[in-house]
Amino acid sequence: MITLALSKGRIFDDTLPLLRAAGIEVLDDPETSRKLILDTNQPDVRVVLVRATDVPTYVQYGGADLGVAGKDVLIEHGGEGLYQPLDLRIAACRMSVAVRADFDYQAAVKQGSRLRVATKFTTIARDHFADKGVHIDLIKLYGSMELAPLTGLADAIVDLVSTGNTLRANHLVEVEQIMDISSRLVVNQAALKLKREPLRRLIDAFASAIPT
Ligand code: AMP
Repeated sequence: MITLALSKGRIFDDTLPLLRAAGIEVLDDPETSRKLILDTNQPDVRVVLVRATDVPTYVQYGGADLGVAGKDVLIEHGGEGLYQPLDLRIAACRMSVAVRADFDYQAAVKQGSRLRVATKFTTIARDHFADKGVHIDLIKLYGSMELAPLTGLADAIVDLVSTGNTLRANHLVEVEQIMDISSRLVVNQAALKLKREPLRRLIDAFASAIPT
């Protein structure tokens, strides 16, 4: 049995065409079914639905043989025990710094001000500002980061940006792009040895179906 860990939404939707290219059809729709284990047309392949941030953990400890996770999630997890053979180039976006439109970020950086930064992505934020030589107080949040600058909780946020609509709707501006983000295939290193043939076949089929 091969178990693939996916999160609902963008990653699930964008992985379906890659699975199809490998001859695998998922038999349930996670938007209408409450099942967490989804069968496929291949009796020896199943999909488990987990939180996006839990995908690396499931794969690391062998709860799943492989999974699909964003580069952001993988950096925050640390990537231990994970083989990362492919950038699938799906769920693409960028990690950025954003502030209130009336906050002069460049001036604050130039003056060497200490910045309050709110984010879910503490490793990425810490590394980014350390590289710039900017001192920060980091405030860990679990969601609705856009609210932090609007309420005075923070000067800046570090968040994922795709179209920029969420920032615009909240009168925030993107002042720095930290890195491009896309989702990667991650594989349990022990499973790669024990289930070498079927996993290799799957990895190769994914590789040839990656969008250009
Ligand atoms: P947008 O309004 O299109 O810029 O999307 C920004 C919002 O969607 C933010 O709240 C992000 O956390 C989330 N988001 C955008 N792209 C992704 C992605 N590829 N993976 C996860 N979350 C994303």
